[in-house]
Amino acid sequence: MPLKIAIVGRPNVGKSTLFNRLAGKKLAIVDDQPGVTRDRRYATGRIGDIDLELIDTAGFEDLADLSLEARMRLQTEKAIEEADVAFFVVDSREGVTPLDRIFAQILRMKDTPVLLIANKAEGKAGMSGAAEAYQLGFGEPLHLSAEHGEGIGELYDEVEKFR
Ligand code: GDP
Ligand code: MG
Repeated sequence: MPLKIAIVGRPNVGKSTLFNRLAGKKLAIVDDQPGVTRDRRYATGRIGDIDLELIDTAGFEDLADLSLEARMRLQTEKAIEEADVAFFVVDSREGVTPLDRIFAQILRMKDTPVLLIANKAEGKAGMSGAAEAYQLGFGEPLHLSAEHGEGIGELYDEVEKFR
């Protein structure tokens, strides 16, 4: 059985970049509700020897009746409920934003274990933002660069605990 991972967080933090880095075969989009369909992408993937089923959230390509925040909330909640582990991605360069806190609040309401990831942490620019991420209440963030592939070994060590 693959470990189901929901990759959640506000737009532009690097969720899809991480999804693409870990993804192997893209799966059919699972359709549940019209208008929200394209908000979650699925793929099988691997980290080391661990099989994953990945859920990428946030597309917002199509205009639905719901407000952006309502849709974000809905798709995030659904992805978390489906998953064994949630990767909560924040941007270590920008630090914690009000929207990050909204996501933290959504995650706290669910039982799914959360792994906090401070992405864009290559080089030194990410250090202060990553320290700020600790305030979100999910422990020390894992420093990662999805784009450059740094921190994947550390990510493996954390994911392994949920296997
Ligand atoms: P999403 O909206 O959360 O899915 O974010 P994307 O994966 O689309 O990435 C948003 C932007 O951040 C893109 O321009 C990416 O190239 C960039 N990005 C993603 N990961 C990293 C990273 O590790 N380091 C840096 N510097 N940029 C990144
Ligand atoms: Mg994306």
